[in-house]
Amino acid sequence: MTFADGWVCKACWKSNRPQDPACYRCKTPRDADDATVEAQRAAKEARAEQPEAIPDAVVAVPVVIFRSYGRVWQRGGFVVLGFLILIAIGGVTDVGYLLLTGGMGAGLIVSGILAGEVAEEMRNREAWAFVVGIVISIVAVVSSVLAVDVLAPGLFDPTAVRWLSAIVFGGAGLAAAVGLVLLFVRREA
Ligand SMILES: [Zn+2]
Repeated sequence: MTFADGWVCKACWKSNRPQDPACYRCKTPRDADDATVEAQRAAKEARAEQPEAIPDAVVAVPVVIFRSYGRVWQRGGFVVLGFLILIAIGGVTDVGYLLLTGGMGAGLIVSGILAGEVAEEMRNREAWAFVVGIVISIVAVVSSVLAVDVLAPGLFDPTAVRWLSAIVFGGAGLAAAVGLVLLFVRREA
């Protein structure tokens, strides 16, 4: 994130708001001299090398799951869009079916990109990233079930659609939820 008229921290390259006297992330003063900047960088590296009190798997598992889900969703989205071109060329003129296919493809790509971003922030232990991850998963499950219901009623077995959505998107949501809980449990410890 960058701010208009903001400034960039010399120690960690975080973008800060113009009114902040010190870096939001690493607390280096805005007008720090080179020695202070060096000291802050050294401290940051020392922290990074410290062993974790609790195995990092707590955070790493949702990150890995989200990253791979993100990749699968994006790839799936492109496959679906390719399929859309094929069925359009093939002479399918059912608007509902074309909309459903196009919407699913675009939705998958967007959620995939978002999931990738979220995975990066999960690695930084940002609680909001886990929350966004859960929201993406819920929205994806609900919208895929609704889209099939509204745009192509009777085309697929509704129970099968629900199960498929739960498997395709629910796993990621579950991973994010577990990560969020563990993040808080760990903070209190
Ligand atoms: Zn900084």
